[in-house]
Amino acid sequence: MRTTKEPVKISDSEWEIMRVVWHKKAVDATTISQLLSESKGWKIATVKTLLGRLVKKDVLHTEQVGKKFVYSALITEEETVRSATANLFSHICAVKAGKTIADWISEVDLTVDDIETIQQVLSEKQAVSSIACDCLPGQCHCKQEEEAVS
Ligand SMILES: [Zn+2]
Repeated sequence: MRTTKEPVKISDSEWEIMRVVWHKKAVDATTISQLLSESKGWKIATVKTLLGRLVKKDVLHTEQVGKKFVYSALITEEETVRSATANLFSHICAVKAGKTIADWISEVDLTVDDIETIQQVLSEKQAVSSIACDCLPGQCHCKQEEEAVS
Protein backbone atom coordinates (compact mmCIF):
# COMPACT_ATOMS: atom_id res chain seq x y z
CA MET A 1 0.00 0.00 0.00
CA ARG A 2 1.00 3.64 -0.32
CA THR A 3 3.40 5.05 2.22
CA THR A 4 2.38 8.73 1.99
CA LYS A 5 -0.85 10.00 3.51
CA GLU A 6 -1.14 12.82 0.97
CA PRO A 7 -4.65 13.06 -0.49
CA VAL A 8 -4.91 11.42 -3.88
CA LYS A 9 -6.01 13.55 -6.80
CA ILE A 10 -6.90 11.65 -9.95
CA SER A 11 -8.57 12.93 -13.10
CA ASP A 12 -11.93 11.65 -14.39
CA SER A 13 -10.14 9.58 -17.06
CA GLU A 14 -7.71 8.12 -14.54
CA TRP A 15 -10.67 7.27 -12.34
CA GLU A 16 -12.22 5.16 -15.14
CA ILE A 17 -8.97 3.16 -15.33
CA MET A 18 -8.84 2.76 -11.55
CA ARG A 19 -12.35 1.34 -11.45
CA VAL A 20 -11.29 -1.47 -13.81
CA VAL A 21 -8.14 -2.14 -11.74
CA TRP A 22 -10.12 -2.22 -8.48
CA HIS A 23 -12.60 -4.63 -10.00
CA LYS A 24 -10.05 -6.90 -11.72
CA LYS A 25 -7.39 -6.70 -8.94
CA ALA A 26 -4.47 -7.33 -11.36
CA VAL A 27 -4.83 -6.38 -15.02
CA ASP A 28 -2.74 -5.50 -18.08
CA ALA A 29 -3.10 -2.52 -20.42
CA THR A 30 -4.59 -4.58 -23.28
CA THR A 31 -7.42 -5.91 -21.11
CA ILE A 32 -8.24 -2.40 -19.81
CA SER A 33 -8.14 -1.06 -23.35
CA GLN A 34 -10.52 -3.79 -24.58
CA LEU A 35 -12.94 -3.11 -21.73
CA LEU A 36 -12.97 0.68 -22.17
CA SER A 37 -12.44 1.06 -25.93
CA GLU A 38 -16.12 0.82 -26.84
CA SER A 39 -17.51 3.25 -24.26
CA LYS A 40 -14.55 5.63 -24.11
CA GLY A 41 -13.03 5.25 -27.56
CA TRP A 42 -9.57 5.06 -26.00
CA LYS A 43 -6.71 3.51 -27.93
CA ILE A 44 -4.12 1.37 -26.16
CA ALA A 45 -1.69 4.33 -26.22
CA THR A 46 -4.18 6.45 -24.25
CA VAL A 47 -4.66 3.69 -21.70
CA LYS A 48 -0.88 3.29 -21.34
CA THR A 49 -0.45 7.05 -20.83
CA LEU A 50 -3.11 7.06 -18.10
CA LEU A 51 -1.57 3.97 -16.47
CA GLY A 52 1.85 5.65 -16.51
CA ARG A 53 0.44 8.72 -14.75
CA LEU A 54 -1.22 6.56 -12.10
CA VAL A 55 2.06 4.70 -11.45
CA LYS A 56 3.83 8.08 -11.10
CA LYS A 57 1.16 9.23 -8.63
CA ASP A 58 1.91 6.14 -6.56
CA VAL A 59 -1.63 4.79 -6.81
CA LEU A 60 -0.79 1.88 -9.12
CA HIS A 61 1.91 -0.76 -8.85
CA THR A 62 3.23 -2.38 -12.01
CA GLU A 63 5.03 -5.66 -12.39
CA GLN A 64 6.31 -7.49 -15.44
CA VAL A 65 4.75 -10.92 -15.83
CA GLY A 66 6.14 -12.66 -18.91
CA LYS A 67 5.78 -10.17 -21.76
CA LYS A 68 3.04 -8.14 -20.07
CA PHE A 69 3.02 -5.42 -17.46
CA VAL A 70 0.37 -6.15 -14.85
CA TYR A 71 -1.12 -3.30 -12.83
CA SER A 72 -2.56 -3.45 -9.32
CA ALA A 73 -3.97 -0.75 -7.01
CA LEU A 74 -1.99 0.73 -4.12
CA ILE A 75 -5.05 2.55 -2.83
CA THR A 76 -8.58 1.29 -2.17
CA GLU A 77 -11.67 2.57 -3.94
CA GLU A 78 -13.14 3.61 -0.59
CA GLU A 79 -10.04 5.64 0.30
CA THR A 80 -10.12 7.37 -3.10
CA VAL A 81 -13.81 8.27 -2.80
CA ARG A 82 -13.21 9.65 0.71
CA SER A 83 -10.29 11.69 -0.58
CA ALA A 84 -12.37 13.13 -3.44
CA THR A 85 -15.23 13.98 -1.06
CA ALA A 86 -12.84 15.69 1.38
CA ASN A 87 -11.39 17.62 -1.55
CA LEU A 88 -14.86 18.74 -2.65
CA PHE A 89 -15.74 19.90 0.88
CA SER A 90 -12.49 21.87 1.04
CA HIS A 91 -13.94 24.03 -1.76
CA ILE A 92 -17.23 24.73 0.06
CA CYS A 93 -17.87 27.16 2.94
CA ALA A 94 -18.00 25.02 6.13
CA VAL A 95 -21.32 26.67 6.98
CA LYS A 96 -22.85 25.30 3.74
CA ALA A 97 -21.63 21.68 4.09
CA GLY A 98 -24.85 20.47 5.74
CA LYS A 99 -27.05 22.07 3.08
CA THR A 100 -24.87 20.48 0.37
CA ILE A 101 -25.31 17.03 1.93
CA ALA A 102 -29.09 17.60 2.15
CA ASP A 103 -29.13 18.53 -1.55
CA TRP A 104 -27.26 15.32 -2.44
CA ILE A 105 -29.72 13.21 -0.47
CA SER A 106 -32.67 14.78 -2.27
CA GLU A 107 -31.02 14.35 -5.70
CA VAL A 108 -29.75 10.72 -5.63
CA ASP A 109 -31.80 7.51 -5.88
CA LEU A 110 -31.89 5.70 -2.53
CA THR A 111 -33.19 2.28 -1.49
CA VAL A 112 -35.04 1.66 1.78
CA ASP A 113 -31.76 0.21 3.13
CA ASP A 114 -29.84 3.33 2.09
CA ILE A 115 -32.37 5.57 3.82
CA GLU A 116 -32.19 3.43 6.98
CA THR A 117 -28.37 3.69 6.95
CA ILE A 118 -28.51 7.48 6.56
CA GLN A 119 -31.12 7.78 9.32
CA GLN A 120 -28.94 5.64 11.60
CA VAL A 121 -25.90 7.86 10.96
CA LEU A 122 -27.99 10.99 11.60
CA SER A 123 -29.48 9.65 14.83
CA GLU A 124 -25.95 9.05 16.19
CA LYS A 125 -24.53 12.36 14.94
CA GLN A 126 -23.54 14.86 17.63
CA ALA A 127 -24.63 18.34 16.61
CA VAL A 128 -22.38 21.35 17.22
CA SER A 129 -23.87 24.66 18.39
CA SER A 130 -22.35 26.65 15.54
CA ILE A 131 -19.96 26.32 12.61
CA ALA A 132 -17.24 28.86 11.83
CA CYS A 133 -16.92 30.02 8.23
CA ASP A 134 -13.51 29.01 6.88
CA CYS A 135 -13.63 31.04 3.66
CA LEU A 136 -11.15 33.65 2.54
CA PRO A 137 -12.38 37.28 2.35
CA GLY A 138 -14.66 37.74 -0.65
CA GLN A 139 -15.48 34.03 -1.08
CA CYS A 140 -18.83 33.93 0.68
CA HIS A 141 -21.45 36.05 2.45
CA CYS A 142 -20.97 34.67 5.98
CA LYS A 143 -18.62 37.41 7.21
CA GLN A 144 -20.82 40.21 5.82
CA GLU A 145 -23.90 38.65 7.46
CA GLU A 146 -22.07 38.46 10.80
CA GLU A 147 -21.15 42.12 10.48
CA ALA A 148 -24.72 43.04 9.60
CA VAL A 149 -26.02 41.20 12.69
CA SER A 150 -23.52 42.72 15.16
ZN1 LIG B 1 -17.96 31.04 4.36
